[in-house]
Amino acid sequence: MGYCHLLADGPRSVMIDTGLAGEAFFIRRLFRRLGLVPANLQAILLTHGHLDHAGNLAWLKAWTGAKVLAHPAEARHVAGTYPYTGITRWGGRLEAAGRLVFRYRAADIDAFLADGQELPFWGGLRVVHLPGHTTGHCGFYSAKHDLLFSGDMFASYFLAAHRPPAILNSAPEQFAASVEKVRQLNPRWIVPGHYDLLDGARHRRRFARLNNIAWPAIK
Ligand SMILES: [Zn+2]
Ligand SMILES: [Zn+2]
Repeated sequence: MGYCHLLADGPRSVMIDTGLAGEAFFIRRLFRRLGLVPANLQAILLTHGHLDHAGNLAWLKAWTGAKVLAHPAEARHVAGTYPYTGITRWGGRLEAAGRLVFRYRAADIDAFLADGQELPFWGGLRVVHLPGHTTGHCGFYSAKHDLLFSGDMFASYFLAAHRPPAILNSAPEQFAASVEKVRQLNPRWIVPGHYDLLDGARHRRRFARLNNIAWPAIK
């Protein structure tokens, strides 16, 4: 359904999102292949608290002992108590059903993230608050790699780059400002949470086409 990303820098590593269910097998295997042990995970970062991103959070936190970092506005999503209103109630019902099916267990957020905060992982990651999909939705920008993990601002598939469905967007009126924020950041590569191929330049082109923006020249 989507991707979580393990960013490894020698023995140190950080995870962005945790997947929906069943990823535990792949995450363990990935650790083994990279020669990592659970204690090498420095932190778990959440772009937002939807079930497909926080699904394995409790397991990953218990397995690695890593701290969970997310925007404070995501706490109720992670806890499964977010008060969905209007059309997003349908999204909330889907999520509630998913929590049952996948036996979701909530985990506490250990430290809250703020826009612009610099995190000491993977050579430096900057928190970029990008509300719209949810109110506390954040991207993570690596200046070193000029790469933005854009979470669920859009899903990037061949012939079908799209915004998340309306029933999943809690603050759609904030999308436009977040798109402009990404345009000004102008990352060379974009990696969303849902995509077909790991190709940051392609996702950058699709993001511009979908949102009808023109990028400034690459820095
Ligand atoms: Zn989402
Ligand atoms: Zn998602």
